Amino acid sequence: MTDSRGWQQETRKVSAVVADARRNVGGTSEDQAKWLLKFANTDPRQVKKARHYELMHEVAAVVRSRTLGFYSNPPDVVPWAEVVRSWKWLRQGLIDLRRPESGWMEKASYTHHFAFRNGRLLSWNIPGFGNLPWFQLAVREILKEAQKRLRLCGNPKCGRLLVAHRRQIYCRRACSQATRTRKYRDLHAMPMRKKRRLKYVAKMQAVHGPRVSVRQRSRAGD
Ligand SMILES: [Zn+2]
Repeated sequence: MTDSRGWQQETRKVSAVVADARRNVGGTSEDQAKWLLKFANTDPRQVKKARHYELMHEVAAVVRSRTLGFYSNPPDVVPWAEVVRSWKWLRQGLIDLRRPESGWMEKASYTHHFAFRNGRLLSWNIPGFGNLPWFQLAVREILKEAQKRLRLCGNPKCGRLLVAHRRQIYCRRACSQATRTRKYRDLHAMPMRKKRRLKYVAKMQAVHGPRVSVRQRSRAGD
């Protein structure tokens, strides 16, 4: 095999990885938001080596998704260290986002650029040099675009973020089931206690006569 053929095969392999990465990240802001949540959930340093290479391309695909045409040379791949930095930043942001009062707050500085291109006025933000600021810009835009779909799981004991499909309120079936079970118990707990009490009063009256005063029993062990 000649060097040239080897190089061509290598190029084909690389472009397949790039195409896979773009497909995995997705083309709509909802799909991209889903990818971001998945990315944030797993420490990239814990995944197997083969996945590292894919992640380096997927983070680059996020950058490209919002910078194409504006960034002079958007990358197909980012260095591994930047995958880890991007992950740390995103994970912390999403942890902050789940805090009901404070939320995720962070100062960001952009250079805003207005210019005519082929007779059309375009505008874009330029966040700075390097991949991380562009990744951060892409994340903010993706979350802003998908914000109507982004929800906190309706199971208060879960607290995961989800990109909702239609009226979806739980992140998974288990959370929906857990909440339904709890609601059912809450709904039926009172009548059950009352029923038990009425039964008890009737029993006491049968023994001691109708004018007996029956004290409320302790609810311990209820
Ligand atoms: Zn959940």
